Amino acid sequence: MAHERVRSGVALSEFALIERLRRRLAAARDDVALGIGDDAALLNVPPGQQLVACTDTMVEGVHFLPGAPPSDLGWKALAVNLSDLAAMGGAPAWALLALTLPNDDAGFIERFADGFGELAHRHGVALVGGDTTQGPLAVTVTALGLVPHARALPRAGARAGDAVFVTGTLGAGAGALTLVRRGQTPGPALAERMRRPVPRLAAGLALRGLASACIDVSDGLLADLGHICTASGVGAEVDADALPVLDALRAAFDADDCRSLALAGGDDYELCFTVPAERAGGVARAFAGLDVAATRIGRIVAGAGVRALDSSGALVKVPHPGWEHFQ
Ligand code: ADP
Ligand code: MG
Repeated sequence: MAHERVRSGVALSEFALIERLRRRLAAARDDVALGIGDDAALLNVPPGQQLVACTDTMVEGVHFLPGAPPSDLGWKALAVNLSDLAAMGGAPAWALLALTLPNDDAGFIERFADGFGELAHRHGVALVGGDTTQGPLAVTVTALGLVPHARALPRAGARAGDAVFVTGTLGAGAGALTLVRRGQTPGPALAERMRRPVPRLAAGLALRGLASACIDVSDGLLADLGHICTASGVGAEVDADALPVLDALRAAFDADDCRSLALAGGDDYELCFTVPAERAGGVARAFAGLDVAATRIGRIVAGAGVRALDSSGALVKVPHPGWEHFQ
């Protein structure tokens, strides 16, 4: 925006910053007719495909700790968006990046591009545009992907009797943050999950035509499975003792805290999905060639709301139900 150039310190180097990002992140793709450098990007959506679009903002002090390594920030800002694409069964293609920076720190940009680029290149994602402004550190990524017509995985398709699954493990990212807040240093396995969550893109693709509903777990399992239930007009029961967690989480927390982190911690970026019971056996086959497992953790029931039960069938109470802004 032109008035920023007159007023702000980013002013003089705004175009140099954009050029660095373009050089590092504007990966070649045949379907980018026009990328960074014009007023807007032109992207070719193949016939028979639908565009899947999502955006997520990360604000310093809200979504990441002040002083977090810029490369981790770059990775995570893209990862949380690719996780949303994964939850829709989308294949990622393009991204836009709105960066608000306190100053024109070239070192920050290079390290940010290291992390963003590492994940973007892994999935063939091209940066095709964005915006650069000066202000308190905040990163907004818009991710665009493709899914064949009518093959996406919306939240609204769960039915009573469906089995509920989750990919990977739960609670590690929130566990790492809890330790940091206590002034402790999380071990590498937990820290990695907080700094560099892995979007479950291959799992999302494998679930096309198999899952009846899907969501990514960002606010906590109970809250996010609750969104599936609300959208589908059903309820759910979760077997709290069947939740997959890392050994490192069990080692760092007692059993109750471990369970609470897995149920409600958030920042997991795993996929929670439902499958009609008669097709539940297909999940193991669908995940056979993937580098992540899926665990059956409960069932969809008639009614409303999500209840967590222990192995004796008793209701499990969770101290904090999930993350929500403006509360
Ligand atoms: P305009 O004033 O027309 O919005 P800008 O000066 O903001 O244009 O941006 C110029 C070009 O650089 C555009 O193609 C825009 O998409 C791209 N761009 C700006 N900031 C970023 C960024 N942080 N990451 C990627 N592309 C960017
Ligand atoms: Mg602009």
